[in-house]
Amino acid sequence: MGFDKTSPYSKSPSEKGIPSEKGKQGEVLLNIQNLSAQIGECPILKGISLTVREGEVHAIMGPNGSGKSTLSKVLAGHPSYDVTGGTVDFKGKNLLTMAPDERSIEGLFLAFQYPQEISGVTILNFLRTALNARRAEPISAVDFRKLLQRKMDLLGMDKGFASRFVNDGFSGGEKKRNEVLQLAVLEPSLAVLDETDSGLDIDALRVVSSGVNAIREERCGAPAVILITHYNRILDYIKPDFVHVLSDGRIISSGGPALARELEEKGYDWIIPKPD
Ligand code: ADP
Ligand code: MG
Repeated sequence: MGFDKTSPYSKSPSEKGIPSEKGKQGEVLLNIQNLSAQIGECPILKGISLTVREGEVHAIMGPNGSGKSTLSKVLAGHPSYDVTGGTVDFKGKNLLTMAPDERSIEGLFLAFQYPQEISGVTILNFLRTALNARRAEPISAVDFRKLLQRKMDLLGMDKGFASRFVNDGFSGGEKKRNEVLQLAVLEPSLAVLDETDSGLDIDALRVVSSGVNAIREERCGAPAVILITHYNRILDYIKPDFVHVLSDGRIISSGGPALARELEEKGYDWIIPKPD
């Protein structure tokens, strides 16, 4: 099994001349203002602001323990995290009052750093159930098989993959491929990918990245992506429009792709404020 390894999607939608409804800038999808969150009594996110528009790819980088996964879990509505301040609007609606499944049905997709196994449920049935939760009329089994086949062809995936149980005995690379297939079938408007690169060898990384790029190419730049990563290796394959550095629960620097290259050369130490 493998995706097309030869054509990483190298340009942002605007560079490719993909029109958005409002000229150069797409509509605002996600608007995070001054978001704070804690686990138990321990503050983790300390005032995060971030705006993501249609078609954009934002990389969030930062040292381990800086709060990257916490941000993705707060966006998903994970019950262990208490939001203590700030606002999050998704497509103009208050995300924070939505249940986790409502967030997903609204078009927010989260790929976790450590995907869960679901024994006894095939990928095909899992995806059909998930897709039907998003539709007024359920898709027939026959139509769903056709749709799944088309998406698997797009990703260059083996037919047999869909009859396996979700993540059961999967390698790290297979778990991530499964998430890319979910992304292709569910067609979210915003995907948050938390360390999709972690634990992948370079071939698996290429396969996963070109899958994400193929989906975005097919859907004219959708979904917008928040790519959470510790290393900038994946950014060679999924090109960010913006790079943000998270440290101790705050975005301490934002820039373009050059910032990621600078972090690769110099590490994180130089950019992180020293305690007094
Ligand atoms: P990153 O993804 O950037 O490595 P995390 O968001 O996983 O960082 O963690 C940020 C901080 O929150 C760390 O100090 C971590 O120890 C703490 N933390 C994360 N999850 C929990 C939890 N479930 N219980 C207690 N502390 C946690
Ligand atoms: Mg993490």
